[in-house]
Amino acid sequence: MTKPVILQIALPVPLPQLFDYLPVQDGPDVTPGTRVLVPFGRRKLVGVVTSKSDRSEVTETRLLRVSKFLDDEPILDSELMDLLRWCWHYYKHAPGEVLANALPPALRNAKGALPAAPVRYRLTAAGLECLEDPPARAPIQRMMLQTLAAGPREGEALSSIGSQWHKTLSTLIGKGWVETETIPPGKPTLSPGPELTPDQQQVVTAIAADMDTFRCHLLDGVTGSGKTEVYLHLLEKVLAAGKQALVLVPEIGLTPQLLRRFETRMGLKPAVIHSSLSAGERLGAWAAARSGRAALIVGTRSALFTPMPRPGIIVLDEEHDSSFKQQDGFRYSARDVAVKRASELGIPIVLGSATPSLESLKNAIDGRYGWHRLRERATKATLPAWRVLDLKQQNTFHGLTRPALDAIEETLDRGEQVMVFLNRRGYSPVLMCKSCGWYGNCDRCDAHLTWHRKEGRLCCHHCGSQRRAPALCPDCRADALIGAGEGTQQLEESLEKRFPDIPILRFDRDRTSRKGVMSQQLDEVRKGEPCLMVGTQMLAKGHHFPSVTLVVIVNIDQALYSSDFRALERMGQMILQVAGRAGRMEKAGTVLLQTLHPEHPALELLLSRGYEAYAKWLLEERSLAGLPPTSYQALLRAEAHDRSLAERFLEDAAAAFPEGSTRVYGPMPAIMERVGGRSRMYLLLLSGSRSGLHRQIDPWLPCLRALKSGRTVRWAIDMDPLEL
Ligand code: ADP
Ligand code: ZN
Ligand code: ZN
Repeated sequence: MTKPVILQIALPVPLPQLFDYLPVQDGPDVTPGTRVLVPFGRRKLVGVVTSKSDRSEVTETRLLRVSKFLDDEPILDSELMDLLRWCWHYYKHAPGEVLANALPPALRNAKGALPAAPVRYRLTAAGLECLEDPPARAPIQRMMLQTLAAGPREGEALSSIGSQWHKTLSTLIGKGWVETETIPPGKPTLSPGPELTPDQQQVVTAIAADMDTFRCHLLDGVTGSGKTEVYLHLLEKVLAAGKQALVLVPEIGLTPQLLRRFETRMGLKPAVIHSSLSAGERLGAWAAARSGRAALIVGTRSALFTPMPRPGIIVLDEEHDSSFKQQDGFRYSARDVAVKRASELGIPIVLGSATPSLESLKNAIDGRYGWHRLRERATKATLPAWRVLDLKQQNTFHGLTRPALDAIEETLDRGEQVMVFLNRRGYSPVLMCKSCGWYGNCDRCDAHLTWHRKEGRLCCHHCGSQRRAPALCPDCRADALIGAGEGTQQLEESLEKRFPDIPILRFDRDRTSRKGVMSQQLDEVRKGEPCLMVGTQMLAKGHHFPSVTLVVIVNIDQALYSSDFRALERMGQMILQVAGRAGRMEKAGTVLLQTLHPEHPALELLLSRGYEAYAKWLLEERSLAGLPPTSYQALLRAEAHDRSLAERFLEDAAAAFPEGSTRVYGPMPAIMERVGGRSRMYLLLLSGSRSGLHRQIDPWLPCLRALKSGRTVRWAIDMDPLEL
């Protein structure tokens, strides 16, 4: 008797295992990477076959059968299946959730299917012949034949012939005069860009020297040094060789400029993949990449898992950006997995940034990554000049010092643009009572409620809860409520009063969440007329505003005394990214930094010696303290309504941790303990060896699942955590 085939299937449930099923009775053979519909309890779930076996721990009589194969062929190839398998082992996450995360949303349900490859229509030899003696009484047919005589056309191009075009087309196909063909992959038609500077040329040459093996390159280039130009040259080479390129960026919504630049230079539309597209659009782009039709794929984090039959290069821009790390569910780092993917594919990967993460910088210093530095701006523009304004010696007007206001006025008078950066949206970060000292706090989080004055609301920026702002103090009934501190709304309002003739454009999540507002405001800035931009870190990201010559950083002091060991790294990156928006073209730029601590050694070092010196100093500090990237961390996160429940689970977990070199710290509360009414606690695991850390965590996981105290809390492992 032949052994039965058992299918191992990943199902989108938060469980660590694969599930065994029998294939459809008398169905076709099925390959890993194929989606199936299976009975699971009372539900039907869409899963993905990961492997086949001839044995199961479930007795055969109890094994259930797959209800249906959803795809005729595997939709995820073996390369991606291997990568995803590596992901669920590395990140200790449920396989089915890892797979679901990799699929476009449209394919996560049973109704979704790969769209048929788009086709176009062309004349057959018979059709060509017939044109010499066209059907006299069928003018529409004649017109269509004539149109197609000029070359193959897509349906869309034929629809202008008349409302009956579809019927006519069917008739012509029926007569054998027209046939369909799949659309061949788009060929790039390259337009030349600026001539590369010698520094840029050197980088391109070094990376292009070997495009057929894996190598990770750190492109460490100051803002405006022409990193994107370097990518473009590498992409040209890859596309010219008939291969595909994957470009990952932090947030697509913020970089329409980048897409346009790719399009005009490459002469083809990139397949764009990010989460604010409709499910259909996203599926279309994914399928185009999978079929090889799309040569250039540009997307955010989740686009990392796009199938590519002819991979040539991966580029990851702004590699320091924390949005590459997914912060809930499957907590993967798209940067780290991209490096892994490139190594499996045997292709180069370029990580670009003006302010590289300490992780990547260390890899470059240690020689594991190629390290390519661009220290000058490509346009010969100089890097901006700094001026530090001591808040202890200045009065402020809605957060801005006199010298800052003067500088803004002078810049606008010269006809130039100004950017004011404050990483706090809303009107005031707190509403308080002058009379009794009452504060508006969130009931569910360890946080103040932000006052959104225009909307008359108090909002929690952590759990999203909001309520009407009271007119009188809820405690003492005094008419003495004031906003303490400034948010972007307040800056906008006060600057509007001060500069009534100047357009003020606010860039923060409240303003740009409405569709179209972002691009409308960017268009306004691009006109080049004097204007004032007020915004959060949204402004820091990648924009190229040629007329901005003054950047004011209102306040970053929080970072100087944060308990998060990454706070200074992030502060340095943020300051330099914001500053990088100033003076990118011929006019020189100035950056004003307001702070209560101008003498802080970190600030002094950053401003006087630049990012590399600053980052090396931070690396030194991390090394002395035994912190990443000189060591490796994992968190066991637990949250519960009742702090003691989370604590008890973590204590039990710590007691069950296997012997070895990994150190275990905690339980301790997250930096912001309570969010959304739940207490968040963690155990910190720290090891000098990455493999050692995994070796101890893996056998620990079954013990954690068996802990009774774990049933009343939500818990998860976070490998290489970015947030504490
Ligand atoms: P980055 O990505 O490092 O911020 P970009 O590639 O966007 O830099 O370049 C910044 C500006 O400099 C852009 O306006 C770009 O067109 C211009 N630029 C880049 N390389 C060159 C070059 N070799 N010659 C002239 N201008 C250049
Ligand atoms: Zn009061
Ligand atoms: Zn809250």
